[in-house]
Amino acid sequence: MRFDLITIFPEFFAGPLDHGIVRRARESRLVEVHVQDLRAFTKDRHRTVDDRPFGGGEGMVLKPEPLFEAVESLLGHGVGDASKPSAVDPKTAIVLMSAAGKLFRQETARRYAQLERIIFICGRYEGVDERVTEHLATEEISIGDLVLSGGELPAMMIVDAVTRLLPGALGNEASSQNESFSGAAHPESNTPHPVGSASHKSPVTSHTLLDFPHYTRPAEYRGWAVPEILIGGNHAEVVKWRRAAAIEKTRRNRPDLLPGE
Ligand code: SAH
Repeated sequence: MRFDLITIFPEFFAGPLDHGIVRRARESRLVEVHVQDLRAFTKDRHRTVDDRPFGGGEGMVLKPEPLFEAVESLLGHGVGDASKPSAVDPKTAIVLMSAAGKLFRQETARRYAQLERIIFICGRYEGVDERVTEHLATEEISIGDLVLSGGELPAMMIVDAVTRLLPGALGNEASSQNESFSGAAHPESNTPHPVGSASHKSPVTSHTLLDFPHYTRPAEYRGWAVPEILIGGNHAEVVKWRRAAAIEKTRRNRPDLLPGE
């Protein structure tokens, strides 16, 4: 899997790419990550990447030319123009990070893990020229209902979420199969829980639950004890307890994931 990150702050990624699972995946060549400085695709003396918005208003907008040219240089071919647009390889996604995009979910991460290449466009300022969204990006993606100052952190979150799903990335393969959101709870969409939808009537499956609580030594800490059942060694009881605890935690933190709530 190859990730390309197009940004005006290439140094931004130095830290996040150099730790833990992502670092190991890079070292073992499971993933390859390239950071592309957008300013390398400017032609003027000031290396201008932004300009004022047509129609007036606040802030600056990332210009289309450097972004189109950066992506085309990475792809090694043109994407055409209005009279003759050309498609990209279906195993490649060109993902525009955008607060106005479709929500990124664990399902999205699973779909991306099947690709060969993802090119991320990190916005800044007020965002990017809409022609980038419409005619260059294959997807416009948001990491949640909040507005950040740039697309770098969101893109890095996706690199992390996708990398840990690649076979061989985790030390213990089981750990990505039995965690929060590990099943296909909700199909990808921007309206995960439409009122009256069939998903409201579906039974609670472990796939729709958050992870169960974890404990480690010491068995008692500052007077707070680990649940007795987890220490007893009765596997069936442990499984039962974990399921009940996962339901309880889901009800408390994410009641929207449960049917009929
Ligand atoms: N004017 C835009 C916000 C721009 S924030 C709006 O109101 O929607 C600047 C950049 O940060 C965006 O172009 C995008 O790349 C990134 N960004 C901000 N919030 C994001 C989010 N929730 N998900 C993904 N990218 C985000």
